[in-house]
Amino acid sequence: MAIRNIRKEDDEILRKTSREVTDINDRILTLLDDMAETMYAADGVGLAAVQVGVLRNVVVIDVGDGLIELINPEIIEADGVQCEIEGCLSLPGKQSYTLRPATVKVKALNREGKWCVYKGEGLKARAFCHELDHLNGTLFVDKAATKEEISKYRKED
Ligand code: ZN
Repeated sequence: MAIRNIRKEDDEILRKTSREVTDINDRILTLLDDMAETMYAADGVGLAAVQVGVLRNVVVIDVGDGLIELINPEIIEADGVQCEIEGCLSLPGKQSYTLRPATVKVKALNREGKWCVYKGEGLKARAFCHELDHLNGTLFVDKAATKEEISKYRKED
């Protein structure tokens, strides 16, 4: 395993679209191992392959209840709305309220090549959405909530 360099800020690779994984070979398995090690070392809750410079549909997530490895992930269900503070390992120091679904279901291949469905709510739903956006070259700052949205969805503040 190895810690890889996290691409930052205006590195143009972050704006590129990642490609489907067609063969779960040793390179992909090593990528998954390295991405998990890199995410934990950076104290993050998620990492997409593009963030370590690999344009493949591969994501790792751990919001504190165990590592989830996603290959070719897709959101198959989304419900409700939440408005919480988000940040990104590729955009150090930046944070903003971002609208996300309250719950999502994600379908993805695991490292054995089997399709699995994962449910997420709260932080995990945000992590799924944030990381899957990376695969399309989208960053959370593109989706930062407006003042009106923040006051609508965060009435308790
Ligand atoms: Zn990110």
